[in-house]
Amino acid sequence: MTLDLQVCSRARLSRDPRFDGKFFIGVVGSGVYCRSICPAPTAKEKNCRYFPTAAAAAEAGFRPCLRCRPECSPGTPAWLGTSNTVSRALRLIGESGLEDGVESLAERVGVGSRHLRRLFIHHLGATPSAVAQTRRLHFAKKLIDETRLPLGEVALASGFGCVRRFNAAIRKTFKRTPTQIRRLARQTEVQPENEYVFHLRFRPPYHWSGMLAFLAARATPGVELVDHNTYRRSISLNGNQGHFEVSLNQDADRHSLDVRVQIADPRSLFAIIERIRAMFDLNADWSAIAQSLRADPQLAAPLRAQPGLRVPGCWNGFELAVRAILGQQITVKGATSLAGRLTKSFGQPLTKANGLTHLFPTPEVLADAKLTGVGLTEKRAQTIRALARAVNDGRISFDRVIDKESFLNRLCEIPGIGSWTAQYVAMRALGEPDAYPTGDLGLLRALAITSPRDLDERAEPWRPWRAYACMYLWTFAHEAKSRQNVA
Ligand SMILES: [Zn+2]
Repeated sequence: MTLDLQVCSRARLSRDPRFDGKFFIGVVGSGVYCRSICPAPTAKEKNCRYFPTAAAAAEAGFRPCLRCRPECSPGTPAWLGTSNTVSRALRLIGESGLEDGVESLAERVGVGSRHLRRLFIHHLGATPSAVAQTRRLHFAKKLIDETRLPLGEVALASGFGCVRRFNAAIRKTFKRTPTQIRRLARQTEVQPENEYVFHLRFRPPYHWSGMLAFLAARATPGVELVDHNTYRRSISLNGNQGHFEVSLNQDADRHSLDVRVQIADPRSLFAIIERIRAMFDLNADWSAIAQSLRADPQLAAPLRAQPGLRVPGCWNGFELAVRAILGQQITVKGATSLAGRLTKSFGQPLTKANGLTHLFPTPEVLADAKLTGVGLTEKRAQTIRALARAVNDGRISFDRVIDKESFLNRLCEIPGIGSWTAQYVAMRALGEPDAYPTGDLGLLRALAITSPRDLDERAEPWRPWRAYACMYLWTFAHEAKSRQNVA
């Protein structure tokens, strides 16, 4: 990947947070690498080296700066570079580290391992192993700095396997022991047992109230709750139950969401944080997206009026798909109350979870459930049972999806799932920035178009950001409608 050095230099000198995490600066002499927003006195241009990723800076021999903490920068946008293969491989590394090795990663994305290495070096400036190692180190540093998790458990939770390897890697990278780093962090917040607080950064602007309003309207009673500017939900991962809550950090200059996770097994933390990042679309580079969408006159005003709108993801792909099926041809409100009844009847009850009463029903339970009893039509009930069976016996999996097209085809083989539902799932469960629900009534109305084919044509110039254009049109149409209702 070639960085525009002039842009990098300007962003560095102005400490522009919109560029945070889009490139890193290695400072010759001090040997550290920094985020674009580093508060340390600005280095001379001739001593600065620019890198597209933290892993590339680390490979070049630079250490992470202890002041700006590169491990806290917003993530690399998943669509970085032009290579689909790299994006897919990055996604897999994000979901599961590199636990099965580079050979297996290469096989999954359908190229040879040497070619994958070349692609990584070209687009990210670092090998797959270096990228995975940097991720492990960054997450370990976050756990040391931001939680009180015992250091032995930090080693396991960040994927180092054993304490000895963890200690060696931290010392080599930070020139300090884990204990010394924790002492430096001077934590003041008291954290209850099994509770972990994280601050997840984003590149401003971020339209928090828009995100919250979207999630609030669709919050499944018992499983999700939105109040006091906080989103909260129950979770289950690898047999562990828990819950988390997300709110916007009140310090506007921090550009971060505060996340509180309650879970008994800290080894799930990495996966949980990655999912929350995806759910709240924290890696998006909104400015770049807006710049491209602004060319459409019907999008220009909404983009100006509501900067920073993101595409809400989801916690669990199966849950989202069930919600999408429930929502076919009924109002959002109607679907939400159906989902609540479904949960009450088939979800596992929880004790003491901050207002949350249930886990969302699992595919195992829904595969044979009598769903008409909660008010579903026989047709919808059949669709949900068929989806649950397909997930249950492994024909459909929402994790580690590589080939989006074949995933969507399998989804559409289920009677009752059409392309609208499939694209909606791709948009919110796979984080596909170019997915959009074809033929959507809300979009047709917002653009005053009657035929779905015309809509597809109209949406062509929005590529590769059709999901974002869709969010803007939905939100703006909704606002216009509520203004009308008031008047
Ligand atoms: Zn720095």
